[in-house]
Amino acid sequence: MTHWPAATEDCIRHLQALIRIPSINPPGGETPAAEYCAAVLREAGIDAEVLEAAPGRGSCFARLPATVDDPLPPLVLLSHLDVVPVDRDSWSRDPFGAELHDGVVWGRGAVDMKDMVAMELAVMLELSGSGAPRRRDVIFAALADEEAGGEFGALHWVAQRPDLFRSDAGPAAAALNEVGGYSITLRGRRFYTIEVAEKGIVWTRVRASGTPGHGSMPHRDNPALKLAAAVTRLADAGRPARVTDVVRNFFDGLGLGDVAALAATDPAAASVALERAVDDPVLRRSFDAMLRDTISPNTIHVGQKVNVIPGLGEAEIDVRTLPGTDQQALLAELGAIAGDDVEVEAVMTMPPVEAAANAEIVGLMREALLRADPDGTPLPMMITPGTDAKAMARLGIPTYGFAPLRLDADVPFLSLFHGNDERVPVSAIAFGLPVLFEVVSTFCRAA
Ligand SMILES: [Zn+2]
Repeated sequence: MTHWPAATEDCIRHLQALIRIPSINPPGGETPAAEYCAAVLREAGIDAEVLEAAPGRGSCFARLPATVDDPLPPLVLLSHLDVVPVDRDSWSRDPFGAELHDGVVWGRGAVDMKDMVAMELAVMLELSGSGAPRRRDVIFAALADEEAGGEFGALHWVAQRPDLFRSDAGPAAAALNEVGGYSITLRGRRFYTIEVAEKGIVWTRVRASGTPGHGSMPHRDNPALKLAAAVTRLADAGRPARVTDVVRNFFDGLGLGDVAALAATDPAAASVALERAVDDPVLRRSFDAMLRDTISPNTIHVGQKVNVIPGLGEAEIDVRTLPGTDQQALLAELGAIAGDDVEVEAVMTMPPVEAAANAEIVGLMREALLRADPDGTPLPMMITPGTDAKAMARLGIPTYGFAPLRLDADVPFLSLFHGNDERVPVSAIAFGLPVLFEVVSTFCRAA
C-alpha cells in the first residue's frame, strides 16, 4: 500500500526541481528538464531516454511494459516541459525559485504544467514499485515545445517516431494530459473538470498595403488606417452562439442550463444569466468562449517612424473554432467582414479535437474523483486553448485533460496559467496524486 504523504513529498520535490530549471520557450532549452525526469526514472530502475528534436530541445520518454501475453494498447502519460516567459518585476516571488510558502509552491510552471510532470513521474514510480501485473504499456512522454506549437515536441515526435506512442497492440488507447481535472467552485458547489474536447485554431494574418509618403502630407491610402478599421470590424463582428453536446452537458451539470438555452436566441439575457451565476471574470470569459467561435486580434505591426506613412502592415488574429465549424468557410466570412482594403489568410490551422466523453477511462476518472471527494461533481468539458492533444489526434489517440487538483474556492486558477505569481497548493497535489494513480493503475491493471 502506498504511503501517500511520502509520495506527495517526493512529488513536490520533483516539482520544485523542475521549476528551478527555467525551460522558457522561446527559446526552449528543455533538455535539462528532460534529463532530470530521465534520471528520476532510471534511479527507480525504469528505462528512460532523452530525445532531441533539435539541439537543446529534449523530450523524455519512458515505458513500463505490459506484463501479460496479449496486452491491450498503451496508456500515455503526456506532459510538456517548457514554460512561457515571465515578467519578473510583476512577480511577488522568484519565478524560478520554487519557494514553498504556507503550503504553496510558487514558480513558473507550477500549474502549466510541471505539476503534472511531477505527478506523472510519481505515478510511474508507484506503478513500477507496486509490482502489480499490467495489461498495457504505460508510456511517460514529457515533451518539449508545447508553448510554441510543438514543432520541436509533439508534432515532431508524432510525425517522426509514432512508435513512441504505440505498442504491438496498436496506438495508445488514451493519453492523459493537462488542462482538466482541477476543481472549480460555483455557488458553493465544487465541480471537477474532465477535458474531453478542445477548440480548433485558425491563426489568421490580415495584411494591408498603401502608398508610402511623408507624414506631413497625409492621405487615406495608409495601411495603418486600413488595418485599424479591419481589425476593429473583425473584433466587433462577434460570432453567434452554438452549443455543442459536450458544452450543453457541462453547462447543465453546472446549473447553467439557462445560459446555454438562451445563448443562441437571446444573447443579452444569456450574458446577464452568466454574470449572475459566475463571479470570476476569467471563468466567465472561458464559459462564454465555449459557446462560440472567437476572434481575438492580438498583434498589429505597421509603420517604423512617426513621420513616415508606411507602405505595408499586418495584424495577427487568434481565431478559435468549435467542433463542427467549417474553418475554411469561417475564414472566407472573416475576409468579407474585414473588407476589400486588406487581405486575410490563415497562417496556421489546427482542427478541434473531441474524445469520447463516455469512454471507460472517463468513467474511472469520475469514480476516482468521487471516492476522493464525495461532495464534488465530475463533469466532462471542452477547453478553449489548444494543447498537444491536437498532435496526438494525428495518431488517432484520444487525449484527456486530467491533472486532478482540489482547489479552494478562492484560488484564481485559470488566471495562473501564463500569469504572474503562478503557484500551486501542496494540498491540491496531495489530493490529486492518489486520484491520478487510481485512474492509471485501474485502467492498466491486469485482471
Ligand atoms: Zn501547458
